[in-house]
Amino acid sequence: LREKVEQARGKPVATEDGVKVTLQLNVGLNTERDWLKELDIQSVGLYRTEIPFMMRERLPTEDEQVELYGQILQQFKAGTVVMRTLDVGGDKPLPYLPLSEENPFLGWRGIRMTLDHPEIFLVQIRAMLRAAVGRNNLNILLPMITSAEEVDEAARMVKQAYHEVAEESYDANASQLVMPKLGVMIEVPAMVYHMHTMVDKVDFFSVGSNDLTQYMLAVDRNNQRVAGLYDAFHPAVLHALKQIIERANELNKPVSVCGELAGEPGGALLLIAMGYRTLSMNSYNIDRIRWIIRHSKAADLDVMLERALAARSPQEVRKIVTMTLEEAG
Ligand code: PEP
Ligand code: MG
Repeated sequence: LREKVEQARGKPVATEDGVKVTLQLNVGLNTERDWLKELDIQSVGLYRTEIPFMMRERLPTEDEQVELYGQILQQFKAGTVVMRTLDVGGDKPLPYLPLSEENPFLGWRGIRMTLDHPEIFLVQIRAMLRAAVGRNNLNILLPMITSAEEVDEAARMVKQAYHEVAEESYDANASQLVMPKLGVMIEVPAMVYHMHTMVDKVDFFSVGSNDLTQYMLAVDRNNQRVAGLYDAFHPAVLHALKQIIERANELNKPVSVCGELAGEPGGALLLIAMGYRTLSMNSYNIDRIRWIIRHSKAADLDVMLERALAARSPQEVRKIVTMTLEEAG
């Protein structure tokens, strides 16, 4: 089966009846670089920059970050790279920035931390921009956004960093510095209802289904005791995901999904039925998702989605989805 699945590399990613889907990669470590080449994927939909930050004993310097980001931008120079700004806090503490909070997932995480530490945020954005000089394939993504004001403030800092880097002309090519596209993660449930407030500030949305599920269901995504309740197939989560794609389409903004749901066969098919056309996932999920899409029919997926949205529980959704997957082989 593995061989059969790998044979789909190089073939178009589309359903049997012609619905085209773009698959992108979630990456965090630069070490998997060689294997990524084999997968026939042009773009990175989520580069989790916190991973290299967590593996050190101190903040990486601006130059170190330029080096790291440059490698990934270079490797994917034929496509685009969505670099997410530092998303620490919650389950991802930095060893050199100890925090003690009663509810870390409701606390000082992601954009909340970096907006309070402009010196960390600006250095990171500057490093991204310096790494992108002459390449023009950088997109910047903001995690844990809860209000349009956070986006305003972050966008101001991106502009500031842009002007600094342009003026300093670190590189003889500085004139080739282009303003990156700016995106926002939809992963806090409030944002499902507030996408319109930031539409003039952002170029794209990216759905973080992991956190959206955790916050919608009020279930800590890492707590084993309640792990049975953490399920992105909850019909309420599916309704939210459907609403997000509908809003994004109304607002005429590109939207992708970069949470784990996009890399699960049933999840990917539900998302495609809702109208998502860009899915970003871990490298080891790419082959099987490409395969399952190529063996599905959009018309069948519509029926599956309709039934899933009407289901009463995640378990019921899983049954419905499994039936469709079995039909696809
Ligand atoms: C998400 O929340 O779905 C996501 C992609 O981000 P992370 O898993 O890094 O929080
Ligand atoms: Mg998240």
